[in-house]
Amino acid sequence: MFLGGVRIRRIYLAVGVGVALAVASALSMPQAAPANPASPRAQSASPADDPIGALLAQQALLGPQSAYPVVIGLKLSETEARTRFAVELSDPVDVRVYTLTNPNRVVIDMPEVLWRATDEARPSGRRAVQSYRYGLFRKGDFRFVIDLKSPVKVEMPQIVPPEGGSSFQLLVDLTPTTAADFSAHAGWPQDAKPSSTAVASLPQSAPRAAQSEAKRLIVVDPGHGGIDPGTHGQSGVKEKNLVLAVAKELRTALESTGRYRVQLTRDSDVFIPLRERVAIARAARADLFVSLHADSNDHREIRGASVYTLSEDASDREAAKLAEKENMSDIIAGVDLGGENSPVASILIDLAQRETLNRSARFAETVLTSLPTATMVRPSTPHRGAGFAVLKAPDVPAVLIELGYLTNVKDEAEMAKETWRVQVARAVGAAIDAHFSRESGPPERQVAAP
Ligand SMILES: [Zn+2]
Repeated sequence: MFLGGVRIRRIYLAVGVGVALAVASALSMPQAAPANPASPRAQSASPADDPIGALLAQQALLGPQSAYPVVIGLKLSETEARTRFAVELSDPVDVRVYTLTNPNRVVIDMPEVLWRATDEARPSGRRAVQSYRYGLFRKGDFRFVIDLKSPVKVEMPQIVPPEGGSSFQLLVDLTPTTAADFSAHAGWPQDAKPSSTAVASLPQSAPRAAQSEAKRLIVVDPGHGGIDPGTHGQSGVKEKNLVLAVAKELRTALESTGRYRVQLTRDSDVFIPLRERVAIARAARADLFVSLHADSNDHREIRGASVYTLSEDASDREAAKLAEKENMSDIIAGVDLGGENSPVASILIDLAQRETLNRSARFAETVLTSLPTATMVRPSTPHRGAGFAVLKAPDVPAVLIELGYLTNVKDEAEMAKETWRVQVARAVGAAIDAHFSRESGPPERQVAAP
């Protein structure tokens, strides 16, 4: 690790000097070259006889590349009594360390650094630390997040100046504590916390406000399509055709109530990438996203419908990735966070996704009370979580319904019938209606729920 740090530092300096020399010789050539072509003075000059060249070299070393502290290594030591992160830095940095629950994590915020560590220690997984991640949270702000397996107390971080070696060390020590103690100390720092007034004052975009007076918008997503047929049954029923037929029936059922607008991600046999399906729901500012599929299984006896929502784990990683993006304004529609200079954006993503997941889970349960009137539902764990890409809009509640198994003869026979498709579409429509009639008042901004 130490050798790695030195090596990186050398390369870094060599690049700097190279730039300095190039700049210095380019500038000095017009005067120096005609007078004395045999002696390119910029390259052999000492600060004493070429102060300008020396200054240029120094300035080049302080150029854009070196404007940020450089992280050259990361050490991790784990014992029962203590977990220590040692971040090796070219310069000291100011850090802010705090803890958050749900899931439990330690957050270290610092100014922008260039992360050039090559040999990073990974947690063993047997102690307090599950994993860690880092990245530029926005221009100028860098964030390091430690995901915890067990509750810890964070000792005061220390910056240790170079001692023989070449780097500063940022030491963050974590010692075991109780869950109650962890929770008691966890929370966003005061200046980073979105107060209720701050959240309430977030701009609401006009389209959303207008929409709140109008009908709910349901985006129905028939899976697969075009070159992607999905799965198929023995009698030749194709998933892509089956789910499109049910989607159209669902549109009819919902529109007939007069309370919903329905948009299909596709209403013909065409392929749509998953990301685009998510984008359609977000761009439309949908109140709900329902993806329809049919399943297959090597065990042909397995049958029945099931409902999926995005799992907590996947959603956290996604939220983390989203939060690290520089421009947050595209992430939550209608909320311009571009001018914010705090982790507020990531808080909002967290909150939006948590609330979205709650809504998705509530809707999934409602579907499972309604669906058995129309078709068989899997007897065990019909509601499951998984990392479906199509469910990953942070601000649109979303479920994926597997309507049954095309590999099961009975399921396939049912699904081939038009009456079954109409029944199932009506049952899903009834669940949507029940879900929204329970949610009182106009649709809220997801992000406004603290
Ligand atoms: Zn499918």
